Amino acid sequence: LAGESLPSPSFRFEPSAAPVTASERAAQLVDPGFGKVFTDHMALIRWSESDGWHDAAITARRPLTIDPSMAVLHYAQEIFEGLKAYRTANGGTVMFRPEANAKRFRDSARRLAMPELPDELFLESCRLLVKTEADWIPTVEGGALYLRPFMIASEAFLGVKPSAEYLYMVIASSVGAYWKGGARAISVWVSETYARAAAGGTGAAKCGGNYAASLVAQAEGIREGCDQVVFLDAAERRWVEELGGMNIFFVFDDGTLLTPPLTGTILPGITRDSIIQLARDQGLAVREELYSFEQWRADAGSGRLTEAFACGTAAVVTPIGQVASAHGRFTIGSGGTGQLTQRMLDSLTAIQRGQAPDPHGWLSPV
Ligand code: PMP
Repeated sequence: LAGESLPSPSFRFEPSAAPVTASERAAQLVDPGFGKVFTDHMALIRWSESDGWHDAAITARRPLTIDPSMAVLHYAQEIFEGLKAYRTANGGTVMFRPEANAKRFRDSARRLAMPELPDELFLESCRLLVKTEADWIPTVEGGALYLRPFMIASEAFLGVKPSAEYLYMVIASSVGAYWKGGARAISVWVSETYARAAAGGTGAAKCGGNYAASLVAQAEGIREGCDQVVFLDAAERRWVEELGGMNIFFVFDDGTLLTPPLTGTILPGITRDSIIQLARDQGLAVREELYSFEQWRADAGSGRLTEAFACGTAAVVTPIGQVASAHGRFTIGSGGTGQLTQRMLDSLTAIQRGQAPDPHGWLSPV
């Protein structure tokens, strides 16, 4: 935000002394990939028992100096969010449903015994960072500024208890389309060895530990030649829950959709919620019901199941073509991108990019 002070009394603005030049930035934005290109600034707010939330700033993105005893390094008291800012058809900049991320961030904080960041601070930190870094939104097809708000337990203390200090930060990454070459159908590995989350655990929270625990299952899937892992419930190893970083939908030959219910062990995805609403807007029936792996295989075999897709902020909507497990493989529909999957992807991205009306007020101008 060259030469202009940020219109917020509560955030200090400390411009980077060494921002990337316009030509270097342009070179980085030609093919940004996902999560590799970072902008010049970040948002930072501190929390302590004595002062609560304080010291809010938009400041130069830089390495942190951390004590080796910092609580997060030992007991993983950490939560995060992921949302995107888009350039719209009329040249504006918008974030997609940031209020939903603010709420989920508070829900995650409660589960991890961390202080809840007020929604106003979450929204303002994201908005000011996007305003500062608007030039970093790539113009390539599928381009966006991916925001990563996160909070870490920053007290230097080796004891298993909630930290007395926290750091909240937002970093931003210029991203292109998640899957290179468009939304080709992926193959998924259904893990019968590993579970992601159990009842009473942290499955519904967006905490780093969940992802650390999923990596070995993802590696197993890749060894088996698949792109992503699908987790089953931990208790019965029977019900389909979600992927490592995406929710899942099933489409049937009667035109209805089904997605697993929010029972506390899956992440309540904002894309999931948006697709449920969009589908209902379009007159489609959506059931939030348990669906077993056994039924999935049977329905794919009989043709009753015509499509399946995964969804999340990063990749938006991704068709699932092949399913594999220790018990064999099967194909869904033609193994490619189904019609309804494509329709959901198109309707959601049209809203996100300001190319279609936004009846639910999902776009938040920056
Ligand atoms: N499940 C998991 C485990 C995830 O990490 C994500 C990504 N945040 C999702 C589902 C999809 O959530 P959203 O649509 O809010 O990105």
